[in-house]
Amino acid sequence: MKPSQQPHKTVFAESTDGAPTYWECPNCGFLSGDPRFLDLEHACPVCGAKGVERRRFPSDRIRRLDARIREYQTQGDGEIVVILVMALLETILEDILDRIMEAHGADLKVRSVVMDAERSIGVRIGKIFPSLTGEEFEDAAAELGYRDFPRRWRSMREARNAFIHDSPFNGPRERLDAGMGADAMVLLDQAYRLFVLLNNKFVADGSRRV
Ligand SMILES: [Zn+2]
Repeated sequence: MKPSQQPHKTVFAESTDGAPTYWECPNCGFLSGDPRFLDLEHACPVCGAKGVERRRFPSDRIRRLDARIREYQTQGDGEIVVILVMALLETILEDILDRIMEAHGADLKVRSVVMDAERSIGVRIGKIFPSLTGEEFEDAAAELGYRDFPRRWRSMREARNAFIHDSPFNGPRERLDAGMGADAMVLLDQAYRLFVLLNNKFVADGSRRV
């Protein structure tokens, strides 16, 4: 049995007003919101590494964008919230695919060639993800407790696209209503958790070094 079939329990970060804070084991890539992980002598539950500096996830770049999105949401600007959350989710998806490819041994050159060749988010979800993991994205999300996430993400992308491209087929969507901004924020919070679960299942599965 592969170690990935016996996943270590993921500890989620405590809720805050901003992006959650996770710590990453630099040895195996495991992500944990457990504050004990800050203590370098607390061994990684997957690979046992300790005494090594742990990186913070999400990155500072994502945290800055997250903070700006929350400002727009406070101001009630649902349109910009939806557009920016969709951009952030695409960045998060790119990041997880990159990490999974790296865990498979792909170097930076290979990873950037694959991501450049497939810029469509639909193809990334529908082809690259299952090719790398052996599971459909929808099934993996459902298995990890986020069954509705792929469908809600897709319908919000469609709304965003109809708004930006003023699609003549669907009729222009004059504005994304305020409720969609709130929905987008829920999706964002779920995305961080799903990312951590996907990472701990497909990257930090204890079978390889990252
Ligand atoms: Zn580790």
